[in-house]
Amino acid sequence: MKRKIKIIILSILFIAACGTGINLFQDSDEVAMGMQFDEEIRKNEKDYPIYNDPELKKYVDERIFQEILKSPEIKKKSVYNYQLELIDDDSVLNAFAVPGGYVYLYTGLMKYLDSEAALAGVLGHEIAHAERRHATQRITAAYGIQIVASLALGNNPSQISVMAANLFGGLGLLANSRANEDESDLYSIKYLQTTRYYPGSVKFFFEKLKDDGKVSSGGSGIQTFLSTHPEPIDRINTTNERIKVLNLPILTYKDDGIGIFRKEYNNKIKGRLK
Ligand SMILES: [Zn+2]
Repeated sequence: MKRKIKIIILSILFIAACGTGINLFQDSDEVAMGMQFDEEIRKNEKDYPIYNDPELKKYVDERIFQEILKSPEIKKKSVYNYQLELIDDDSVLNAFAVPGGYVYLYTGLMKYLDSEAALAGVLGHEIAHAERRHATQRITAAYGIQIVASLALGNNPSQISVMAANLFGGLGLLANSRANEDESDLYSIKYLQTTRYYPGSVKFFFEKLKDDGKVSSGGSGIQTFLSTHPEPIDRINTTNERIKVLNLPILTYKDDGIGIFRKEYNNKIKGRLK
């Protein structure tokens, strides 16, 4: 009888977890998972070669990453291990975040972008994935019942790190949903509003891809840091609408001037990359 009740409760929790964005993880779990992921990434030099230029990394970190983290909209600064790492792969137009605030940025993306604002838009988006706990939200949806079960059985602390290790094999499982991507675009705008950067710059990457013929309104063949859902074109339009609401000018990736920092980007970041 007792067992039956437990199963019913677990089933209810599972259904709730799948549909509503419930997250069964604690912030401390996010941090533990993130540390584990970061360790795995650093061990895997073949897939994630670290770009070794401490001065460049320091510049991007202090000038852009830390600038975004000063936003009052970011609530987990003192809880998460926010940190940035550069990955040495020019073929990848990508960046990603894992739980607990670890953000990874590919040299390919840095070479493709044109301004500090464009990079700030991407970093704001990735910080939002960590801050809004999208990865563990997805894991909760996928593994809700096992987690609930282990908690109900008294849990063992290594469970989470085992799970993280299992999931690591397929970062794909952590791929974000359409709603997650949209929310991260929205929060990138929120975060950037208190920085020196143009708040709508999260769309610059997509505008450039579109001009380069790398995306079409019918869909995209390329896998990007910002997954292909929603469509890049929709994300440009949505960002423009949000910028209009804020009464800010609609700038594009081709613009320069206040909040863009094109020259600084070329001198200090793009021009420095080997
Ligand atoms: Zn994303």
